[in-house]
Amino acid sequence: MSHYVTINIMEKGKCAMSMIAKILVIVGGLNWGLVGVGMFMNQPINLVSMIFGSMPKVEALVYVVVGLAAVGMLIGCKCAKCKSCNVDQAAQVKV
Ligand SMILES: [Zn+2]
Repeated sequence: MSHYVTINIMEKGKCAMSMIAKILVIVGGLNWGLVGVGMFMNQPINLVSMIFGSMPKVEALVYVVVGLAAVGMLIGCKCAKCKSCNVDQAAQVKV
């Protein structure tokens, strides 16, 4: 007996909100990676800080928005477009 786990590989056809959330999470992840690399090089590399560092409140807002985007991705969008997309693009992977 085998069972299947459904995972989403493609995000094509999702609503603008989902795409923005995905981009924000990727940007946040890449920035976090750069921060880690920078720590190894004893040199701060933080693109968000470089761009918005002169406006600490805006910089903080970027981090909060990225965090909210991650929460949104975890919950998943419930709009009709994403729902149909989830069905269309879902791939079944044999475990
Ligand atoms: Zn959606």
